[in-house]
Amino acid sequence: MTDSIFSKIIRGEVPSHKVYEDDFVIAILDIAPLSEGHTLVIPKEPAETLDELSDDHAAALGRVLPRICRAVKRVTGAESYNLLQNNGQAAGQAVPHVHFHIIPRFPERGEAVDGKPDKDNGPGLRTTWKPGTLTQEEALELGKHIKRLL
Ligand code: 5GP
Repeated sequence: MTDSIFSKIIRGEVPSHKVYEDDFVIAILDIAPLSEGHTLVIPKEPAETLDELSDDHAAALGRVLPRICRAVKRVTGAESYNLLQNNGQAAGQAVPHVHFHIIPRFPERGEAVDGKPDKDNGPGLRTTWKPGTLTQEEALELGKHIKRLL
């Protein structure tokens, strides 16, 4: 099991701005926010990636995530936000303990907007999607194997 910075925060050994806590989950403000209200929702179980998380902690996360999103939206006034969850280094995960980012978006403040040229190059989330293709044969083959494991 990992003992990341988030485990230390959960145990209270490292300070944080905690906005929510129950038996399974905490939510804290990100120390290096991409935007106002950037919040991290973290299960107390020290799983590194989402696929390693127990059903109990997954259910607790699912139950509380929309509620925390609502609170962040209301406080910041953001109409849009991203829920981002990185798993593994190649996916951009820096802290090896499951966490969901709630990242409010503020285009009206000149912050980055997906698919539009960036005006100010300041802090913010910039996502780029370059869609590929999926043939009928590929979908049937891939789908068959995934279904078998579920
Ligand atoms: P990841 O890249 O792993 O998805 O995101 C890790 C996030 O954790 C980053 O946004 C980073 O700013 C945040 N973070 C790292 N260390 C700390 C810390 O000690 N306190 C808080 N509040 N956030 C942290």
